[in-house]
Amino acid sequence: MGKLDGKRALVTGASRGIGKAVALRLAAEGAKVAVNYNSNKALAEAVANEITNSGGEALLIQADVAQAEQVEAMVQQVADAWGGLDILVNNAGVTGDNLIMRMTEEEWDTVLGTNLKGAFLCTRAAVRLMLKQRWGRIINMSSVVALAGNPGQANYAASKAGLIALTRSIAKEVGSRNITVNALTPGFITTDMVETLSQETIDTIKQHIPLGRLGTPEDVAGAVAFLASDDASYLTGQAIGIDGAIAI
Ligand code: NAP
Repeated sequence: MGKLDGKRALVTGASRGIGKAVALRLAAEGAKVAVNYNSNKALAEAVANEITNSGGEALLIQADVAQAEQVEAMVQQVADAWGGLDILVNNAGVTGDNLIMRMTEEEWDTVLGTNLKGAFLCTRAAVRLMLKQRWGRIINMSSVVALAGNPGQANYAASKAGLIALTRSIAKEVGSRNITVNALTPGFITTDMVETLSQETIDTIKQHIPLGRLGTPEDVAGAVAFLASDDASYLTGQAIGIDGAIAI
């Protein structure tokens, strides 16, 4: 018996990194998982296959979360297959770093479009199903930079801070229907997103992390599984640091 037996989950950006680990963990806890990706079909397919090969149920869905029609079609596909949606993990995210005086509108729009508008579109579509069910879990992947800011990441940090405000507002809106909405604020997690950093930078970062190491995608997935479970029934509207205490 898993903690999430029979639940139906959608994880955006589940082809790699944190999203992949979240999809695998939710499936290991007994949930059916819709594995969303944008461009890496082969990687996403491998995630879905890993779930089905372990006896779970997966749906592979291509959709750009920044495009309303694609999001509506994705959530409809989940509803058609499984009759509803219980857990939404808004994980898809991109960076587009630049100093503010050089940042292009395209860099701003792409990052805000995927990270913030994408979460809005997915949440809007998912909430319609969750309201009918009177049960739902929404988990938004924010970041530690939402709280502290980061030079060169004005667009990314603004999108992640926006996600926290989105989380709190929707938590208040849908709480009476037994739907919880929370955000995680990961610190440095070992995925493609931090792979571009030099070893020297990583060593410097580690000195500021009380736990003395970077986080793993599985560290984040464990927190998502908890938030999605009945153990977290009275926990909503929170932004929880999953960062080895770098932020304190
Ligand atoms: P990653 O390895 O770069 O993977 C990003 C994922 O998002 C991929 O599955 C990608 O799909 C998907 N994606 C990107 N744009 C998309 C779009 N428009 N529509 C649908 N899917 C899209 O990233 P990660 O490090 O795992 O990060 C996952 C989340 O955690 C992000 O929101 C990120 O901001 C956040 N986060 C990460 C860290 C960290 O240290 N890694 C720290 C704090 C927060 P394709 O493969 O198909 O492109």
